Amino acid sequence: MDLKIVLLGPPGSGKGTQTERLCSELKLTKISTGDLLREAVRNDTPLGAKAKGYMDAGRLVPNDLVVDLVREKLKAVKGGVILDGFPRSLEQAQLLDKFAKIDLVIDINVNEEALVKRLTMRRTCKDCAGVYHLEYNPPREEDKCDRCHGPLYQRTDDTEKTVRERLRVYKESTLPLTKFYHEKGILRKVDGEGDISTVYQRILKAIKAKK
Ligand code: ADP
Ligand code: ADP
Ligand code: ZN
Repeated sequence: MDLKIVLLGPPGSGKGTQTERLCSELKLTKISTGDLLREAVRNDTPLGAKAKGYMDAGRLVPNDLVVDLVREKLKAVKGGVILDGFPRSLEQAQLLDKFAKIDLVIDINVNEEALVKRLTMRRTCKDCAGVYHLEYNPPREEDKCDRCHGPLYQRTDDTEKTVRERLRVYKESTLPLTKFYHEKGILRKVDGEGDISTVYQRILKAIKAKK
């Protein structure tokens, strides 16, 4: 399957979780700007040094730091792709239009208080970026990734204060994208509440309808 799919939705809506499963079951390639940026920060690259302050504050990093990154990754991919966390603003969507044709945009909807609860109790694998939740999706062994046994940590931006700022930024910068993609006729809204498998089945249905 060689669809190019964008997962849209606020922080905590399940983009990373669903991307993981979609990629492994449908043999798609993940391009997650959040994961790529965190890797750059961890490796102390020039990109990481520039991005860190924005990420810790819950703001979007400037376009010139992310757009080329996505363009390069896309060039290297054969077959289908899931973009997780990109585009996140109208400008990014317009730039993306110049180098890729998106087939489907899945907009995952979850109410705000649920998002806060999900994000403040999220745990992430340092080694494979696997996503867990202390209550809703706990790892089998405490603080260890089920998949790769890497250490789990709490992202520095998953504190309540930064989460609230990220939700504000989402509404201001990312939400207008739903209208943009709706007008192109490729937006599918998916209810993101309910357990992880239920949401997965809804997304799968939207993808199958497109194929
Ligand atoms: P995003 O990438 O959109 O920020 P994540 O996939 O990282 O979202 O999920 C945020 C948190 O919510 C994680 O702790 C994850 O385990 C949890 N989560 C994801 N989907 C669900 C769901 N359907 N129900 C409950 N918790 C979920
Ligand atoms: P979440 O999964 O919780 O929505 P991400 O991992 O996607 O969070 O993003 C974490 C942070 O990385 C964002 O708050 C932002 O600072 C930065 N970031 C990720 N993707 C982008 C993007 N497309 N444009 C600008 N900044 C981004
Ligand atoms: Zn792992």
